Amino acid sequence: EPALIPVEQHGIRRDQLSPAARKVCAVLQEHGHKAFVVGGAVRDLLIGHPPKDYDVATSATPEEVRGLFRRSRVIGRRFKIVHVMSGPETIEVSTFRASQDAVTDEHGRVLQDNVFGTQPEDATRRDFTVNALYYDPGTETIVDYHHGVADIQQKTLRMIGDPPTRYREDPVRMLRAVRLGAKLGLTLDPAARGPIREMSVLLENVPAARLFDEMLKLLLSGHAVKCLQQLREQGLHHGLLPLLDVILEQPMGERFVWLSLENTDERVRQDKPVSPGFLFATLLWHEVLAAWEAKKRAGEHPQPALFAAMDEVLDAQAGKLAITRRIVGDIKEIWALQPRFDKRSGKMPYRLLEQPRYRAAWDFLRLRAQSGEIPMAVPDWWDRFAHAGQDDREALLTEAP
Ligand code: ATP
Ligand code: MG
Repeated sequence: EPALIPVEQHGIRRDQLSPAARKVCAVLQEHGHKAFVVGGAVRDLLIGHPPKDYDVATSATPEEVRGLFRRSRVIGRRFKIVHVMSGPETIEVSTFRASQDAVTDEHGRVLQDNVFGTQPEDATRRDFTVNALYYDPGTETIVDYHHGVADIQQKTLRMIGDPPTRYREDPVRMLRAVRLGAKLGLTLDPAARGPIREMSVLLENVPAARLFDEMLKLLLSGHAVKCLQQLREQGLHHGLLPLLDVILEQPMGERFVWLSLENTDERVRQDKPVSPGFLFATLLWHEVLAAWEAKKRAGEHPQPALFAAMDEVLDAQAGKLAITRRIVGDIKEIWALQPRFDKRSGKMPYRLLEQPRYRAAWDFLRLRAQSGEIPMAVPDWWDRFAHAGQDDREALLTEAP
């Protein structure tokens, strides 16, 4: 039997929800369906973070949901859910489902789990107790099947069910454990922490595109530094960025990666935009440098050698972590502009300034200097050049080292 926790105990009022989340639940309930805000939003409200999006769980089927909201569409990668658009918001509505009888691969990984189920079944198939809380906006009650509210109060991230089994079903849960723990300031329960080191190899069976999605969430969580430290402690980084462990073992590469992640975290927390291309460009840069150096030593011309090194590093990455094509394009642009910062005379600097990606490339250059790879004088020179008037620019061009 679930605990029904009244508003006097948990303190979440319905007007703390977004208008769309309230409306979607109200419409479903008016039509005789059960409907709750579930998952991350309830958890975040209890912790005191503003939710970034809302998920609704309902007894209505996707077709029934679709029929109730004009601006809605059924989407489904792993399972059918309905996106309901309301004002500027999109609410993800999913039908209660069970995970029994799920189709698994030979490692126990769930390939398909779109079997409709009851609300308690829906609660049990979720990953962590704090993610299995159902908030009813009508009554302002939380339905809690797995003591999630108590776990939040005790700052514990606890897996529902047997952790090794749950990791086998979906190895991405190991990454979610790290990310949610870091983001929410919750400590991973020892029973869930224990098996990770040994089971981390299972990440190799996860499709590269899904791994990329999850990795991106982790890097853009605002707690990337903490997440990556945790991944490293748990031995999980091997499966993600195959080259990351190598990079992190070179002092300068390590400095560069941490600087970049600190920078990203800072921007995320200030709600500034962060470019995934920039981020991955930094994570892989020292691999590119190493490959580039090797090619130059072998007598190749610097520019083609750089392009070959870039492709080599990105190809090595592609099997495990499928960086989307658009992002690969951004990464390459940032890298390809780097040697052009060495040319600080003649007409070339003017052309570089006009590049649409100049600003990102310069930010990247500055990180290289901050990590000690190149002298700070280089980004400083470009900064002065970019902001100078015509006469000062000519003077700078003759002063260049
Ligand atoms: P956030 O949105 O802050 O990243 P979240 O917990 O809301 O965190 P979502 O990916 O939006 O994460 O998932 C919504 C809900 O779906 C989760 O709260 C959880 O109940 C369930 N869920 C998501 N991924 C899994 C998974 N891999 N295994 C089991 N349940 C999951
Ligand atoms: Mg969510």
